[in-house]
Amino acid sequence: MSEELFEEAEGTCEACGGELKPEKVNLEELEGGKLYLMENVPAMVCEQCGEIWVPEPILKEFEKMMETAKRHKSRLAKRPKK
Ligand SMILES: [Zn+2]
Repeated sequence: MSEELFEEAEGTCEACGGELKPEKVNLEELEGGKLYLMENVPAMVCEQCGEIWVPEPILKEFEKMMETAKRHKSRLAKRPKK
């Protein structure tokens, strides 16, 4: 992970104008009853309102991970008996 990811953040929160602090966060997404989790991703957290700004490349990576997990799951899934 490089600091280039934060170039667009410019240190201020787009929601409230508060100060952003680089932090490690966990991304969570609940979909189809399954929890997808990506731990310790670099993000910017607003000290004022608590808004979390995750860099686009990280989000893309997270989505890709979810897609991969879903494909894997469907391959293992069994058809319901009729
Ligand atoms: Zn804010």
